[in-house]
Amino acid sequence: YKEVAFVGRSNVGKSSLLNTLVNNYKIAKVSSEPGKTRSVNFYLINDKFFMVDLPGYGFAKVPFKEQKRWRDLIEKYLKERDTLKGVFLLVDSKVGPTEKDKQMKDWLDFFGIPYVVVATKVDKLKSSEKQKLKRKVEEGLKDKNLEIIPFSSKTREGRVEVLKRIERLLEA
Ligand code: GDP
Repeated sequence: YKEVAFVGRSNVGKSSLLNTLVNNYKIAKVSSEPGKTRSVNFYLINDKFFMVDLPGYGFAKVPFKEQKRWRDLIEKYLKERDTLKGVFLLVDSKVGPTEKDKQMKDWLDFFGIPYVVVATKVDKLKSSEKQKLKRKVEEGLKDKNLEIIPFSSKTREGRVEVLKRIERLLEA
């Protein structure tokens, strides 16, 4: 099976996004390590492809050893997956991109993995903030040429766009 993965800092809204996307779909959770919050979870969607839930990053309080474990886990995952067709990098649109988001983005560039930025929780933005969203994300990630999908699990804005983007990544 081909797969697409989802990654972002803790609390970015990843679980909510995954639930919003697969609502009405047939889902089977294929693997996980019980009791481990920081592991890679695979969901088989409609018997067709995997959605991969990568553990969240970016809690400053997390001990260095734990952060290293996270980096090793993600690096191993990104390096070895020839079935990985693309990554959705979630960024909180209210907070804006963090240093860790930038590192993740640089990593994806380094490995040559196609990715799309999903700006989460856009329902929290005023319309003036929403207009500046693309520039804010591009400035934070230091890249003027990013594909960004505004998303809200509250209003479901962006759901169809993300699903279509998944289809296209899987076709490529
Ligand atoms: P995760 O840690 O990345 O899996 O994040 P969650 O999906 O658990 O969401 C973290 C917090 O953000 C929760 O309190 C959610 O209710 C809230 N949240 C998630 N998505 C949205 C959204 O689209 N809009 C708003 N306003 N809040 C959201």
